Amino acid sequence: MENKEDFSKKVIFPIGPEAPDDIAKNFIGTVYLHSLVPYDSPLKHPISHVVFEPRCRNNWHKHPGGQILLVTGGRGWYQEEGKDARELHAGDVVEILPDIKHWHGAAADSWFAHIAMEADVLAGPTQWLEPVTDEQYDKLR
Ligand code: MN
Repeated sequence: MENKEDFSKKVIFPIGPEAPDDIAKNFIGTVYLHSLVPYDSPLKHPISHVVFEPRCRNNWHKHPGGQILLVTGGRGWYQEEGKDARELHAGDVVEILPDIKHWHGAAADSWFAHIAMEADVLAGPTQWLEPVTDEQYDKLR
């Protein structure tokens, strides 16, 4: 499996430090965060580069204001509740409408990176739900 160092050379945005505990607790596996536009910036439009180690994924969740993902590298998954997972590669765009239950993360055999753009943060914070179990995750190829 590719290591973080080699993966970072193929992605134009930096790989930040491991996410702090208050964010990491909503993920299975290790996630790295690099802030591009801070949460409290005047435009109220925070943007982060998010890097997932292989198998890392976030728990099911909802964004009251919606979210846009711009995939920057690797191979990963996006899934909305009740739908098939969508395989993601660099250049893909995911538009997540407000209050849609979903998760995103790396494929089992690959690092994965995306830019996460929080739309309308004034609508409220992310609502974190239950983990994506190994049984759900291992169905994906
Ligand atoms: Mn999301």
